[in-house]
Amino acid sequence: MAAAHRKGKKNKNELALLGLTLLMFILLVLGVLYTQSETFLNRHIESGQSTSKPKKVNQDSPHSSETTEAQQTNTPAQKDDIVWEHQSQPVKLPILMYHAIHVMGAGEEGNYNLIVDPTTFESHLKALQDAGYYAVSPEEAYKILTENVLPQGKKVIWLTFDDSLWDFYDIAYPLLKQYHMKATNNVITGTVGNEANLSLDEMKEMKENGISLQGHTVTHPALGNTDPTVQNSELADSKTYLDSNLGQDTISFAYPSGSYTDETIAIAERNNFKMALTTNEGLASAANGLLSLNRVRILPTTTAELLLQTIATQ
Ligand SMILES: [Zn+2]
Repeated sequence: MAAAHRKGKKNKNELALLGLTLLMFILLVLGVLYTQSETFLNRHIESGQSTSKPKKVNQDSPHSSETTEAQQTNTPAQKDDIVWEHQSQPVKLPILMYHAIHVMGAGEEGNYNLIVDPTTFESHLKALQDAGYYAVSPEEAYKILTENVLPQGKKVIWLTFDDSLWDFYDIAYPLLKQYHMKATNNVITGTVGNEANLSLDEMKEMKENGISLQGHTVTHPALGNTDPTVQNSELADSKTYLDSNLGQDTISFAYPSGSYTDETIAIAERNNFKMALTTNEGLASAANGLLSLNRVRILPTTTAELLLQTIATQ
């Protein structure tokens, strides 16, 4: 009885051992399968994110294939592993000022100085990329200027475009994606949706892809010659529009025509803007005052070589 019992127990032990071995084997197989499916899923999600973006832009562009490639890597943003380093000397930040990027058409001669040819623009992006420049967001620019830091091993540049023109979406944005460069468009909120200007949908799409939309007032008055009450509503209303429609805290704006006074600066501060961009020529630094930052004006004649010379900080 006792022996039979022991034998039964032994059998049970053997069975249990076999079962356990089988269970471990099954778990191992499941583990391998799960890891593989997870990797596949991640790849699938990553490519899904990028390929699901609308691709209506510039199908006749000579760069359309490269644009697609840039979309697959999904970003003008290059946030990856930045290490910020404190600097002993005051940081100088080149803030480039562009307006229109397109081939100048007939009858546009009056705006000649505001229109940069796409080929020239692309040569700028390529030269900046080759020279190791990292294009910053307004938030990163604020960090750089207030903390006196730079990303380790990189030079910095802030690409800004004024007036929320149509060609920013159609021409500049695909090139910015191709070269993985972030940029900021300073939006005249009263023009959003006009034929010659960006639509809200375009702005929303770009915001998801490394483009920042910041202020440039509602109707583009020369603030320095404008009644303070109107200055206040121009700044307040444009900020409210961008904050509510894009779900953000708009931290910077550009003075229309570079026009401002000390009173304008005080009004900007009261409206919680942290930075404001002028048309005063030069590299920006904290010493400018954050609400009167210098910029580098880009002309149609600005070659890539001249650009690199102008923004060299040492
Ligand atoms: Zn403007």
